Amino acid sequence: MARYKDARCRLCRREGKKLFLKGERCLAGVKCPFDRQEKPKAYPPGDHGFRRTKYSNYGIQLREKQKVRRIYGVLEKQFRRYFSIAERRKGMTGENLLRILESRLDNIVYRLGFATSRAQARQLVSHGHILVNDKKVNIPSYLVKEGDVIAVKEKSRNHPFILRAMEIFPTPSVKWLVRKEGEFEGRVDHLPEREEIPVSVEEHLVVEFYSKV
Ligand code: SF4
Repeated sequence: MARYKDARCRLCRREGKKLFLKGERCLAGVKCPFDRQEKPKAYPPGDHGFRRTKYSNYGIQLREKQKVRRIYGVLEKQFRRYFSIAERRKGMTGENLLRILESRLDNIVYRLGFATSRAQARQLVSHGHILVNDKKVNIPSYLVKEGDVIAVKEKSRNHPFILRAMEIFPTPSVKWLVRKEGEFEGRVDHLPEREEIPVSVEEHLVVEFYSKV
């Protein structure tokens, strides 16, 4: 399974904003370079990062696409596939795309508060700690449906990552997921509308980007 292995804080610097990719470290003020008194360099990483001052329209669209992809930890090929599915669905393509990304099992585990980041959730899923409707699912890209019940496997309920995450996030971070405080099981009440997805991106730029390539 291919995945990004380089420094994740570098991706935040590339996009010029916090993408919350490292879990607890992103929340704990002083540990995030963006929260330190000494701010990170105000230009993108790399030898030529400081030279670039203004983006073209294409550049702006590309950056927004990369930002969405990095927030959800999805590689280009799969992201493009999600876009094709979103295009074929009824409604706004950008919103459909975000809804598909939000339905990924790793995102659901993170949003339910069983992990402090999507990367950690991805690891928990692929190591077999998560059940969907009482069946083990170890595919992070599995897409959940309305009414699905997501639970931590009985034997994994003392996993330190999960306990710590539940301490930090006692309840789900979104209203469309339901979990009572202290419970190791949650339910997808409904799939989210755009206003229920707390991700500040301009998805129409992603649609414009793919309409050109
Ligand atoms: Fe981004 Fe988190 Fe690193 Fe801060 S600590 S730069 S939010 S990955």
